[in-house]
Amino acid sequence: MLKTIAAFDRMGEENAFAVLARATALAQQGKDIINLGIGQPDFKTPEHIVEAAIKALKDGQHGYTPATGLVATREAVVRRTMTTTGIEVSPESVMIMPGGKPTMYAAIVMFGEPGAEILYPDPGFPIYRSMIEFTGAKPVPVPIREETGFAFSAEETLSLITDKTRLLILNSPANPTGGITPRSEIEKLVEGLADHPDVAILSDEIYDVMTYDGERHTSLLQFPEIRDRLIVLNGWSKTWAMTGWRMGWSIWPDALYDKVRKLAVNCWSCVNAPSQFAGIAAIDGPQDDVETMMAAFDRRRKIVVEGLRAIPGVECATPKGAFYAFPNIKATSWKAKALASALLEESGVALIGGPDFGILGEGYIRLSYANSEENIERALDRMRDFLSR
Ligand code: PLP
Repeated sequence: MLKTIAAFDRMGEENAFAVLARATALAQQGKDIINLGIGQPDFKTPEHIVEAAIKALKDGQHGYTPATGLVATREAVVRRTMTTTGIEVSPESVMIMPGGKPTMYAAIVMFGEPGAEILYPDPGFPIYRSMIEFTGAKPVPVPIREETGFAFSAEETLSLITDKTRLLILNSPANPTGGITPRSEIEKLVEGLADHPDVAILSDEIYDVMTYDGERHTSLLQFPEIRDRLIVLNGWSKTWAMTGWRMGWSIWPDALYDKVRKLAVNCWSCVNAPSQFAGIAAIDGPQDDVETMMAAFDRRRKIVVEGLRAIPGVECATPKGAFYAFPNIKATSWKAKALASALLEESGVALIGGPDFGILGEGYIRLSYANSEENIERALDRMRDFLSR
């Protein structure tokens, strides 16, 4: 038996992919499956973005680019950051990454090692914990509670910092809950972080413009006092329906930029050039498709919340961002993962059990409303039938 290092045995994964595989297998057997499991927009990448990639390839843009990304793509990110946050960042702080996840990886391997502690949201995106475990650092969950609208509590987060804490991971708007941390709470957190100058911060802002009901996302970039230890993760996957293009960006403090550049040189060299041209078109081109997509998500969000609330034993907080609902199913007699599995096998509805996002996810399930209104209605009918049995 080949023996790999123990880190690989500690690594977890994202169960959404396993659910997708099972849902696809059942569909191939002829079952009518409605997929509310995977977190990717069901819209096509807007035409002008696709055209930009095709043009780039036809123009011969097929070679290596700088490991940090094309200057033009980084400058597009600078413009976009100014539009969304009002903050001017330097193109020399921007890294173009193959998706959002590699920034997570880079930040976590930079600070994670045995003896170190890393704070991460629970429930939260599962890769945070998985990568922390991989490095041998101790994962310290920051509870994200329904009672506080699935927002971070500054007080609770700060209370978990010890002299071993090296990195704090934040995510708002959040997966899997759709929660948004209000500006007042972020301000309190930043104020408290002044007492912990050695703690780096990874702010995952990939859903930054996916908000509803007039809610506004607060970027951590807006706090100059933490800029020298702040990494901001963002990307094209969700906003422009580009999950498979593997296009992300991140903004790094000066002290870390060369380290992440070197990691890119060692691991992936660069992001493919045509996608980087597509990324520029996404940022600089018309945003009508994004607006149309968000209007559709908003309509579906209301259908999902209303439909879930009509199911016996199910309560659902109104999600304020992203495209997920995270209903509370504690009043049904079901454990969350067992319910998710039974709904898939017996009713043909794919969704994810809350514990796949952390221990505090028990009692919840995640529905991604990246599916048509008709399918969402059908899925809700099936869930209601199943839970009324
Ligand atoms: N961050 C969060 C909070 C996410 O939900 C996701 C994807 O679901 C990512 C990052 C990863 O994005 P990407 O597909 O670009 O790697």
